Amino acid sequence: MARGRGRVYVVGIGPGDPSLRTQASVDAIRESSTVIGYTFYLDLVRDLLGGKSVVEYGMGEEVKRVQRAIELAQSGEVVSLISGGDPQVFGIAALFYEYMARNGIDVEVYTVPGVTAALAAASKLGSPLSSDFAVINLSDLLVSRDEIALKVDSAARGDFVIVFYNPAKLDVVRMAMGIVARYRSEHTPVGIARNVYRRGEKIIITTLGMWQNYSGYIDMRTTIIVGSSKTFTYRSYMVTPRGYRL
Ligand code: SAH
Repeated sequence: MARGRGRVYVVGIGPGDPSLRTQASVDAIRESSTVIGYTFYLDLVRDLLGGKSVVEYGMGEEVKRVQRAIELAQSGEVVSLISGGDPQVFGIAALFYEYMARNGIDVEVYTVPGVTAALAAASKLGSPLSSDFAVINLSDLLVSRDEIALKVDSAARGDFVIVFYNPAKLDVVRMAMGIVARYRSEHTPVGIARNVYRRGEKIIITTLGMWQNYSGYIDMRTTIIVGSSKTFTYRSYMVTPRGYRL
């Protein structure tokens, strides 16, 4: 990594536990004089923040975070802009690049990957993502419900394993599960993974017919994995076969 000039690292810090940080993400944060992020994610990397300037923003202040990172980098600082998981997966990375492009900004920037929630949640469930899978954001803040419904329908029709992020609103979750149920049996395995690799972790395996019994565990800290027609459960595992003959 070049030194001496201001630059921005757009860093994914993984799901929470330090053991799931990439070495590159730790290096980027260590090298930075300023670390910018949403308070909840900054708390997950507090151990790396000693002696640094820390800029905390609340939810909904994403554009401000990007502007601040750019200003600081332009004044010669090394800045980490952090996201949970991976910064490209419903994180801050695209906003940063889009803001640069819109405003004709030329600042040195690196995307540092992280372990995204889909992979973290899947690891707790065994191997549910081992065939083709689709990752769908259920937040209707930036995307319309019609668009969400179309994507869920396409993924369900294509028999993809489906990972739902941002299941904040239960009516949207109900809509999405209802669409999948048009194509898949009520026995289809469903994994509900809340706060994976963080305090309060909860992992549940249920089915497309029964998931609503566990809706109390579904919120902004939860990732849901709906199996394909081939996914099965064995003991406490959820498995999607790749097709090997046994
Ligand atoms: N950039 C992040 C995702 C941001 S969107 C990533 O790559 O993981 C936020 C959503 O991610 C949450 O609503 C939840 O669906 C999921 N998520 C993030 N961290 C999680 C965790 N530790 N456990 C369960 N779900 C998580």
